[in-house]
Amino acid sequence: MATESATESATDCLFCKIVAGEIPSTKVYEDEHTYAFVDLNPQAPTHVLVVPREHYSDVAELGQDAAASAGLIAGIRGLVAQEGLRHFRTVFNTGTDVGQSVFHAHAHVLAGRPMGWPPG
Ligand code: AMP
Ligand code: ZN
Repeated sequence: MATESATESATDCLFCKIVAGEIPSTKVYEDEHTYAFVDLNPQAPTHVLVVPREHYSDVAELGQDAAASAGLIAGIRGLVAQEGLRHFRTVFNTGTDVGQSVFHAHAHVLAGRPMGWPPG
């Protein structure tokens, strides 16, 4: 379960509204714990956001709930299995300094082009 403060902040959350179907998205995959949709500003031929159905502000908060964390990883696995992805990058931006702009935990799943390391 999300914490009380997290649930309160969810009332005006973009990704909560996408999960609820109140804002349109291009669904790629969903299961009991997760919803996955195409990123509006794709950075690779495949760029999907996988989000927990419940509101957590970032991956650090999500990590306080082991079952919810496992649910998100299982969702990533479900997505890549469905799409047949064998080479992909998974990114959790956490905090504004590294580019987090939506404060509902989400995994970026990127694939379909070569990628450098370290990331920018
Ligand atoms: P981050 O910057 O890591 O918080 O990632 C947020 C991502 O959400 C960005 O890659 C945006 O392009 C994406 N995004 C923002 N609004 C939408 C939307 N309505 N539908 C799909 N993706 C979105
Ligand atoms: Zn949310």
